[in-house]
Amino acid sequence: MLLGIYNDLYQHFGSQHWWPAQTPFEVIVGAILTQQTSWNNVEKAIVNLKREKILDPKKLREIESEKLETLIKPSGYYRQKTKKLKNFMGFLFERHGGKLEELFGQSIEQIRMELLSVKGIGKETADSIILYAANKPTFVIDAYTVRAFNRIGVTKEKDYESLKKFFEDNLPKDVNLFNEYHALIVALGKNYCRTNPICGKCPLRERCDYALHSYDGAKRKK
Ligand code: SF4
Repeated sequence: MLLGIYNDLYQHFGSQHWWPAQTPFEVIVGAILTQQTSWNNVEKAIVNLKREKILDPKKLREIESEKLETLIKPSGYYRQKTKKLKNFMGFLFERHGGKLEELFGQSIEQIRMELLSVKGIGKETADSIILYAANKPTFVIDAYTVRAFNRIGVTKEKDYESLKKFFEDNLPKDVNLFNEYHALIVALGKNYCRTNPICGKCPLRERCDYALHSYDGAKRKK
């Protein structure tokens, strides 16, 4: 069922080419900046950081907080996000000498535990970093995932860890699959499975309980 949904989404949307970043470090910064804002706003902040040539662990650690706040202002909540970035840099240098490859050389469980110990890094951010920066198979859950998969009716889980386990237990543990699947769910959530869903055009309408009960044109897909 989960692979069938994946195939329908992939056929409809195609490859999403996530994460839109040039380096693992840029993924981490983007994952922190994208909290509570749209990607367009994050891009503006990333452009500022690149222009100042500080998209680098050592430079981001050394830059004054006030200057960093100004540069990341387009991403919103810039004071909190400056603290979060500084917290991450503090962790990376104190625990791993500033070396991402040392952090990412550990098991998924260890990386996740360490990231979650950093103030300001929650589960979705930690899993995004592990999947898209460390390139290791952990499934990322977000609000789009909870909404769409509860509507489709394949699960009643709403809690982060339970839903993550549901995906990981029912899919091959393949980093490329997890990478593409989460990106496709975001495309689904943005384009169709919104607060007011557009079921009539959704590629999952024939699989979806919500659509079958509310949209006359849908027929159940086996
Ligand atoms: S058919 Fe409607 S409710 Fe179901 S996943 Fe698509 S948009 Fe969401």
